[in-house]
Amino acid sequence: MESQNEQQEKTGLGNYFIANYPPFSFWKHDYLPQALETYQKPPASGTPLGLYLHIPFCRKRCKFCYFRVYTDKNAKDIENYTNALVQEVKLLSEQPCVGGRPLDYVYFGGGTPSYLSASQLEQLIKQLQEIFPWHHAREVTFECEPGTLQQHKLQLLRDLGITRLSLGVENFKPEILQFNGRAHLEEEIYRAMNWARALNFPQINLDLIAGMVGEDWDNWKECVRKTIQIGPDSVTIYQMELPYNTVFSKELKMADDPAPSSSKQMGIADWPTKRAWVDYAFAEFLAAGYSISSAYTVVKNKSDTSFVYRDALWRGADMFGTGVASFGHMNGVHIQNLDTWESYIDKLNRHELPLGRAFPTTPRDRLIREMILQLKTGHLRKEYFLQKYKIDILQEFHIGFQQLQQLDLLTVNSDSVDLTRTGFLQIDRHLPTFFDPQYRSDRYT
Ligand code: SF4
Repeated sequence: MESQNEQQEKTGLGNYFIANYPPFSFWKHDYLPQALETYQKPPASGTPLGLYLHIPFCRKRCKFCYFRVYTDKNAKDIENYTNALVQEVKLLSEQPCVGGRPLDYVYFGGGTPSYLSASQLEQLIKQLQEIFPWHHAREVTFECEPGTLQQHKLQLLRDLGITRLSLGVENFKPEILQFNGRAHLEEEIYRAMNWARALNFPQINLDLIAGMVGEDWDNWKECVRKTIQIGPDSVTIYQMELPYNTVFSKELKMADDPAPSSSKQMGIADWPTKRAWVDYAFAEFLAAGYSISSAYTVVKNKSDTSFVYRDALWRGADMFGTGVASFGHMNGVHIQNLDTWESYIDKLNRHELPLGRAFPTTPRDRLIREMILQLKTGHLRKEYFLQKYKIDILQEFHIGFQQLQQLDLLTVNSDSVDLTRTGFLQIDRHLPTFFDPQYRSDRYT
């Protein structure tokens, strides 16, 4: 029989990646009046404003995917959705909380934004820019699935001001891509990269996942080698998790034994193996001249490769999250949109904001949120939090830092905290150490 520790190291059901705080399960429909109120307030001085646009279409549903995506929509549906999205951006651009701020960053995420045709994209982006221009944005990111790209579509994106392309590659091996439900082929990765390079996009990111079903050491090494050979500006490496409501999780639940040990039989690597794969990847990328910029990211030229969207969010920026089920943050209130197609479109057809649930944060919530998110970059500065929150985090959270230091996950200095390499590989699962007690035990959804 396996020990509890061995069980915990298997990939069981649930989320590992921590994207926000307090956890989503505490956000409530009942808090919507506070969300509406916060839109009426002027912004806090010096707070940047961003715009996230959710494009929820994909060619196929990957078996590990838990995002709100649709694979059965036709051109008319897409038109209805993009019209609703434009309407939503229009309503938001008129809210007092904008306060005359220009957009600092824009992010097209999904789903698969590149699933839209060139003409659909041109129409959408031009309409959006007329309503809420982003000429001064420091970064405009666009997520792509390699198999949906053509040269003329990339040319259009470049012409429309996209500065950062993010390619969802995940793996190179055809059998693994196919078994995990990915729609693209290996040759489409190289084709897309060559086009993007030739068009001089300022920044190209490539995503990998350590631990897709069927992964093994030899193939992972090949994935890392091929990525280094391609040489993107940054590489984001996720560790495969099994959130609820994915195809794989449902298969796992139907297995005779739904315990984490069944995941191994399905060909899902355990956490120590995934960490070893990320560790190997970090070492290879470092040897190739890259630097580690967060628990998931390596960058080629650290001095001139930023990720404005991530860094702004992790420093408490405001952001309108638009599109079905999207998440945003305004003036201290977390907000999520309605999460069904019908309800989202219906609200916008009635010219109302499609809000689903919210959470008004306290200054302490915001301090903890920024601290745990910034810890993922590997470095916390005491001075930053003293200035912004008037709190010495090294004193306030010294027990948590001490616990993590004892586990060799970080080192505490007189004015900063630094993650160790061991810490980089597994920081997410230790972040609840800093959660206030009422938020600690809840399932992270
Ligand atoms: S392409 Fe991305 S968003 Fe679409 S199903 Fe796959 S993982 Fe999910």
